[in-house]
Amino acid sequence: MARSRPSPPGGVRAPLPGFQRTKIVATIGPASDDPAVLRGMMDAGLDVVRVNSSHGTAELRTRWMRTVREVAAAAGQHIGLLVDLQGPRIRVGTLAAPRTLVEGGTVVFAPEAEAAGDEIPTTYEALAQDARPGARILLDDGLLAVEVTEVRSPRVVARVRHGGVLRGKKGMNLPDVRVSAPAVTAKDRDDIARAVEQGADYIGISFVSRPEDVEEVRRLVPGHVRLVAKIERAAALERLADIVQAADAVMVARGDLGVELPYEEVPLAQKRLIRLAIRQGRAVITATQMLESMVENPRPTRAEASDVANAILDGTDAVMLSAETAIGRYPVEAVAAMARIIREIERAVVDEMIPTPQRRRSDPRGPAPSVEDAIAAATTAAADMLRVPAILCFTKSGFTARKIAALRPVAPIVGLSTDARTCRHLSLIWGIVPERAEHVPDYTAMLDVARDTLLEKGYAKSGDLIVVTAGVPFEVPGTTNLLKVEVV
Ligand code: PGA
Ligand code: MN
Repeated sequence: MARSRPSPPGGVRAPLPGFQRTKIVATIGPASDDPAVLRGMMDAGLDVVRVNSSHGTAELRTRWMRTVREVAAAAGQHIGLLVDLQGPRIRVGTLAAPRTLVEGGTVVFAPEAEAAGDEIPTTYEALAQDARPGARILLDDGLLAVEVTEVRSPRVVARVRHGGVLRGKKGMNLPDVRVSAPAVTAKDRDDIARAVEQGADYIGISFVSRPEDVEEVRRLVPGHVRLVAKIERAAALERLADIVQAADAVMVARGDLGVELPYEEVPLAQKRLIRLAIRQGRAVITATQMLESMVENPRPTRAEASDVANAILDGTDAVMLSAETAIGRYPVEAVAAMARIIREIERAVVDEMIPTPQRRRSDPRGPAPSVEDAIAAATTAAADMLRVPAILCFTKSGFTARKIAALRPVAPIVGLSTDARTCRHLSLIWGIVPERAEHVPDYTAMLDVARDTLLEKGYAKSGDLIVVTAGVPFEVPGTTNLLKVEVV
């Protein structure tokens, strides 16, 4: 322990080569399912791959899941797999030909099985039961809008507010309607079973409106599968804290959210959700159209670079790519662009973006803090004060590492686990570098192993101070009770 501070006082330590606190999620698709492309994305800084269950066949998506695992194994990287369910997305049925909706005109919606003539078929069978006059129906990401004028069960009559060309299979959003369709559809159940079979680390739940929607999926998956509640319905904002609590992670799903809410309300909803998730110790992904122009172009617009930067400054755990990597022309470049923005922002402002460690006594009205909460607070305070180059966290389930990450310490949190699944879960979490460890008998042996990893990967130099957390007895999840300052 005979060492002074490892970094020059006042200076932000040089980040690890390639170390990004903010993580990158990218959606796989025809543009990125080639192993060489996927490998290029991983080398460019990808952390988690999303499989979107709204696209492709079940066979194709299973193949994607396998490809992700194979390429990650070959690359020696801990890459998380997020399988995103389609959920109760409401769509227009098949149209024989595109229809032009004229402003002021009248249209009639009918369930797919009943639609005749020029009625617009919908996959939402209970539309007439749930909709009331005055309710808005938004079509094709809100490009077209109609307002219900009359319910003639099972049909619904509406007046066109914003006209345009309507094609079959387009999405319908009903922001004013309490949709009675089940949160988990029969297709979702099939997709959940397949995702579990393929070893998915996270499952994304679309169109969540209540915490019960998350609990319903929880009952369908083994305990190790983590759940991402996608916040994309206006109704979800009314139950936000409870939904965040019920989930392991949340997504600011700005695509659908921006249709259900006036788009100008999305930026503050994003900030509110990120703040809430961090406070409740849940991971948060900011998603959709972040680098949209890169579907066609090799470089992002200035506005897109600013959007990614703002999400990072808001404190998001991860930023997400959708069409950019699924069907875009520049999937590797899109990941690289995000990595560049992340590194620049974190290099420049990491001290300001970090909230002061929560050293206060816990709020007696809040949930009772655990031993892990106390260890996490002390770890963060010690690491920031001593300006250590790394926090070493021995973690079985990832629980303590996540607690520490939620306090946003400046130093990278090297999350060492004997469990490969934990490493993949941690790939989504802000500030954590997951590393796989072999089983070791005791603390001293474990520290020796960790020292080699730290030196080999350049997380610390010989003689550096580091902060270490662990649980004794070993290998029992949820027993973190030890904090030490060690010399590498
Ligand atoms: P999606 O979800 O891409 O599955 O629709 C994200 C969003 O709506 O923003
Ligand atoms: Mn969506």
